[in-house]
Amino acid sequence: MDEMKTALVTGANKGIGFAIARGLGEIGFHVAVGARDDVRRKEAVERLLAAGVDAFGVALDVTSDESVAAAAATIERTAGRLDVLVNNAGIAGRMDGGAQDPTTLDLDVVRTVLETNVFGVVRVTNAMLPLLNRAESPRVVNMSSNMGSLTLQTGPILAAYAPSKSMLNSVTAQYARRLADTKVIVNAACPGYVATDFTGFNAPRTPEQGAAIAIHLATLPDDGPRGGFFDDEGVVPW
Ligand code: NDP
Repeated sequence: MDEMKTALVTGANKGIGFAIARGLGEIGFHVAVGARDDVRRKEAVERLLAAGVDAFGVALDVTSDESVAAAAATIERTAGRLDVLVNNAGIAGRMDGGAQDPTTLDLDVVRTVLETNVFGVVRVTNAMLPLLNRAESPRVVNMSSNMGSLTLQTGPILAAYAPSKSMLNSVTAQYARRLADTKVIVNAACPGYVATDFTGFNAPRTPEQGAAIAIHLATLPDDGPRGGFFDDEGVVPW
């Protein structure tokens, strides 16, 4: 088997995804930069190459079956298999005019957020599973949020975004149970509160700090935990 491992990071053109791509590249992964916008993807790949990372761009809109199928074909052609999938792409959804106040909730916002944050993860994971199954130690990391924790009930009231991450956590547990007898290890990560476009850059943690838990879960040993929810401190309650 090819010595160099390949990792796909979705939404890797900026923010936490870019930091995950760079971090995985720095420890020797061949990194597929999944991004939907051609210009932003090209610029991210150039920045990674300049940083010494062995990166290549993969056109990927997680809301499109066609785009995801084409991305799987590109990775198969380029690498032949996939060792790590980080489902990082995510959106907060519109918040204006009480759109995410549960009492005035705009269901179109819920649909849009679920399409990316949950259905996108399922779409990408299922398209990549045949390639992950060819790897020796495949890992899947779903970028969740402690806002999805029903135990913690943390963060502002965002009645589309928070439930999307609760559902993503549940989906993560379903995958882990279904794949329990395989080599594929699936976990969810919380990056903490990170300064990116997502938070208007008003947050205490750097993208590199937010990326650390995803990189840790992407490189778990074969006897590592399955079907869990983790941040830098350890287990996050569901
Ligand atoms: P950013 O907004 O900086 O980056 C989000 C990334 O997702 C961008 O690359 C964006 O691409 C991409 N993306 C969005 N929709 C799609 C799509 N349909 N197809 C492909 N890519 C898409 O956010 P962060 O880096 O902060 O967030 C990354 C993840 O971490 C998200 O899942 C978020 O929910 C989670 N998270 C973030 C926290 C934080 O404090 N920042 C806290 C907890 C969780 P484009 O540039 O084209 O829009």
